[in-house]
Amino acid sequence: MSNMNLSELFGKNVFDDNVMRERLPKSTYKQLHRTIDEGLTLEASVAEVVANAMKDWAIERGATHFTHWFQPMNGKTAEKHDSFLSPTSDGRVIMEFSGKELIKGEADGSSFPSGGIRQTFEARGYTVWDCTSPAFLKEDASGVALCIPTAFYSHTGEALDKKSPLLRSMECIQAASLRILNLLGETNVRKVTATVGAEQEYFLIDKRHYQQRKDLIFTGRTLFGAQPPKGQEMEDHYYGSIKEKIAKYMREIDLELWKLGVPSKTKHNEVAPAQHELAPLFATSNVACDQNQLIMEVLQKVANHHDLACLLHAKPFAGINGSGKHVNWSLATDTGRNIFSPGKHPHENKIFLIFLVAVIKAVDKYSDLLRMCAASAGNDHRLGGHEAPPAIISIFLGDELTNILEHIAHNEAVVEERRQLMEMGVSTLPKLKKESTDRNRTSPFAFTGNKFEFRMFPSSESIAEASTIMNTIVADALTDFAEELEKASDLDKAINRLIKDTYLKHQRIIFNGNGYSEEWVEEAKARGLSNYATTVDVLPSYISEESISLFGRMQVYNATEIFARYEIMLEEYYKVINIEAKTMLDIAKKQILPACIYYSTEVGKNVEVLKHIGSFDITAQLAILDDLTKGIAEFKRAIDALDEKVIESNSIKESLEKARFFKNEILPCMEHLRSISDMLENQVDEKVWPLPTYGEILFRA
Ligand code: ADP
Ligand code: MG
Repeated sequence: MSNMNLSELFGKNVFDDNVMRERLPKSTYKQLHRTIDEGLTLEASVAEVVANAMKDWAIERGATHFTHWFQPMNGKTAEKHDSFLSPTSDGRVIMEFSGKELIKGEADGSSFPSGGIRQTFEARGYTVWDCTSPAFLKEDASGVALCIPTAFYSHTGEALDKKSPLLRSMECIQAASLRILNLLGETNVRKVTATVGAEQEYFLIDKRHYQQRKDLIFTGRTLFGAQPPKGQEMEDHYYGSIKEKIAKYMREIDLELWKLGVPSKTKHNEVAPAQHELAPLFATSNVACDQNQLIMEVLQKVANHHDLACLLHAKPFAGINGSGKHVNWSLATDTGRNIFSPGKHPHENKIFLIFLVAVIKAVDKYSDLLRMCAASAGNDHRLGGHEAPPAIISIFLGDELTNILEHIAHNEAVVEERRQLMEMGVSTLPKLKKESTDRNRTSPFAFTGNKFEFRMFPSSESIAEASTIMNTIVADALTDFAEELEKASDLDKAINRLIKDTYLKHQRIIFNGNGYSEEWVEEAKARGLSNYATTVDVLPSYISEESISLFGRMQVYNATEIFARYEIMLEEYYKVINIEAKTMLDIAKKQILPACIYYSTEVGKNVEVLKHIGSFDITAQLAILDDLTKGIAEFKRAIDALDEKVIESNSIKESLEKARFFKNEILPCMEHLRSISDMLENQVDEKVWPLPTYGEILFRA
């Protein structure tokens, strides 16, 4: 591996465009491209030829199996492997893979969440080839398998996955964008793609520690753990030099991802101890989504090779930063233009300005949907702390762009600011031009020069839904604009009016200040912006009339599909907390309580021994014993209280009511139980404490 150069390695396991050009007959290649580029339906005869070439390519590389690779609504990926073996009439076998097998598979999995769309007795679902995302080879202990990215439908045509709606939303943002671009005279643009780059944060810990904690094993986060003497306050981990063991891990990650054609680009240490980040180059949103799933899978798989465990949970440790996944989003044309590149003279760049105000309108109008797609039981612990954006959606534009819009809105001429050179006071350093805006890390939705960055999103989830929603809401705003502009007699005037009116109407969503401050919470309220603290609060906005009408109009989800997703998110919410509560009870009863009792017995024995020998000062021992026994009694009461609530929850059937119960009744009991345990942890001999501590996990990997 070491002497293989990057260009040979990159995409080695991908049936990508180069391979297709090489291996497919010219006419087939062209026809396939017409489907990929122009969205034309794929002919069966073309699929047949592609399937054959794909099979030969895969078998040459050691593949024995193929699988349709899809993304059910649980946000994971699913696969079912079939071998290429096919019997011949004379009793032998040949390696076969037909066009039919490439295009369509039957996934007889009635065990995926369907939110009621599919009854278990009606279990049939179909996987359908997404030829816009390349097939790839997966290598593991079981051999090599050809993975074919697919969408997953019920036999009645409802999307049972996260991929199909994303593909639909890509079509709708393309159609709406083209309509506007055509109106503005950009008639040579034929394709507009939504581009996405997702920065993935994660924790890496010692596998030994992981295996000793049932909470990490069952729930992905620590449910107990007192704060260590040192946290992240020294700010010495962020961008710090990467330790040898971690460096080796990251090297293998890069190699694995490059082989899969995932352009892993940057890696660095993050703010929290043991926290890291990986960012790929951006891609079209469906490919970026597939690649992010692969990134999460590879991060976890490779950790095993290094005796490490990779935690993707949004908040694995209390008291230190959680992990996010910044979803960077933009629009690109087939003529090579990034629509959100402001250019040298943004105030004259009509296309940029129109798309910019479309985003402003979309985010203001549908802020609830954006908040909703970032909602999960795990992310509730992260949002609104002083580490991640608050739960209030707003847009950071920066002073320069805000200024331009202000001037346009008030009919004033825009005076272009000259970029100043930075004065660093050292003559040998190269002179740099000042950026027009500083970064603002506190904004949930920030314009970052030529793209938007959605920062509220948690590290653990599939980015499909976030991309789907961004595409859909912006497409909706653009469609409104197109309707208005198409009616205009004086286009220039209409465009100016549109930019001005939209900005004035939706400017409340723009906020360039400190999103972590208390004042912002107050101000946002005064502006009428919503602030949904938790998943349970925001989920009902998914099934609001507005939401159903938007997704229906844009043909991204029909009402059945929305209700199914809403139901699944609610179920997932309370199931996650239910598992957490049960795990807590298990650890509390079987590990923490016995350890505390054991230690108090030891102290008690010491008291006895000292009393027996003579008259010593045993006030310390008695005080310790007093604290311990009181703590133990309180801990036991907290166990019983949580136990009762968990039992009570079983009788609640309706999902929203159940989710509310878990939020309002069970979470507080869990927090209480934890706080007593964390107090006991600070009193008990560390040799008998049954769980690896925060200090050990975070600082000794
Ligand atoms: P930062 O730390 O400032 O957020 P990074 O360089 O770590 O910046 O990440 C930037 C991310 O944005 C990368 O994943 C990159 O692929 C993505 N990105 C850059 N340009 C675009 C674009 N035009 N569309 C979508 N994503 C983009
Ligand atoms: Mg970022």
